Amino acid sequence: MADVFCNNCGHRNPPEANFCSACGAALVHHSDLTLTISSVEAAGEVHEPDVNQRLLDQALEVFYAIRGMDRLRKKPSTSELVDWIAMLQAIEMSEVGLSADLPFLGTLLKKEQDLAAFLDATSGGGFRRRM
Ligand SMILES: [Zn+2]
Repeated sequence: MADVFCNNCGHRNPPEANFCSACGAALVHHSDLTLTISSVEAAGEVHEPDVNQRLLDQALEVFYAIRGMDRLRKKPSTSELVDWIAMLQAIEMSEVGLSADLPFLGTLLKKEQDLAAFLDATSGGGFRRRM
């Protein structure tokens, strides 16, 4: 695996890092990002010349934050992420953040107890990140 460069500040981080050691931003591993963008395009969901990069970055950040929750029984997969982003684009969301009223949450979390764990974590204040 190659080193990961921070999208936020350009700092080089070791391949296993999930967050930038310089600025704390969530790191996007290049293979994941490539897979995501090409899958979305292949699904024909992109009607504009370029994906809303801001939405994509935020969606990835939320996705990794959810994957980092250790109470989940089934963590969302990359294909669920692709579905979710396509739905966000379909309703023309311009931004998305980690909160209890996340749209189409059921696309990412299929199990009721995982939804409950997510709501508990986001509304109870036990799970905080920079936003
Ligand atoms: Zn950084």
